Amino acid sequence: MNSSTHKPLVYIISAPSGSGKSTLVSKLMKLVPDLDFSVSYTTRPLRGSEQNGKQYYFISRDEFKQMIDREEFLEHANVFGNYYGTARRFLDEAAQKGHDLLLDIDVQGAEQIKRKLPDAISTFVLPPDRQTLERRLRARGEDSEQVIQRRLVTASREIENYDKYDYILVNDRLDESIKSLQDIVRSERLRRSGGPLSGEQKQMLASADRCRLSNIRDRVQPILASFAMPTVTGGSG
Ligand code: 5GP
Repeated sequence: MNSSTHKPLVYIISAPSGSGKSTLVSKLMKLVPDLDFSVSYTTRPLRGSEQNGKQYYFISRDEFKQMIDREEFLEHANVFGNYYGTARRFLDEAAQKGHDLLLDIDVQGAEQIKRKLPDAISTFVLPPDRQTLERRLRARGEDSEQVIQRRLVTASREIENYDKYDYILVNDRLDESIKSLQDIVRSERLRRSGGPLSGEQKQMLASADRCRLSNIRDRVQPILASFAMPTVTGGSG
């Protein structure tokens, strides 16, 4: 890629906690070349085996505020009472390297990025249904019952925003989800590069297209229903 003119593709991925997003993201990062992960800044305390600079940069509220004042963030938001933000410099660095950039951010952050970078490609990861999400949250063994219930309520709220995203990935079987996510990333690159397509590439585009919001509404309806959401009637886009 020509780094002097490279405009990074920005991929956003959002999901309620427990939907398996972290696993998907880390597998994707290993499989797709020239894709950088934007390590967010956060004021939340470090958890378990996390390392500063790997999953997040862990900073104080004062440091976070200073970064806001210096306009160092592309977006930032308060999530569960802590601040999280995407540093602009990752976008600059990706451009210099001729790479694309992946952001693992929440719904509020996704909205801000879409306003600033309308070409950003957004994917929302949905659990197959509420019961599965609840089971996964319990299986992680990280949270008390009270926290699990709070996460489920938050998940229902976050899921309401699914139709602001370009692609929806129902994370039922991990191997299939990874393949679909890879197809989304690769097909968007292909679309930008233009040129004739091989049979395999056409299949990849078709696979990504199956996750497009407009093509997956029927699959999403029962999931929403399991979270006791009103179903959407009609609507084609
Ligand atoms: P956790 O603390 O569980 O790692 O993440 C909580 C939530 O914050 C997740 O939904 C995650 O996607 C979101 N998040 C992580 N980094 C950022 C960021 O830089 N900006 C925004 N808006 N959300 C973020």
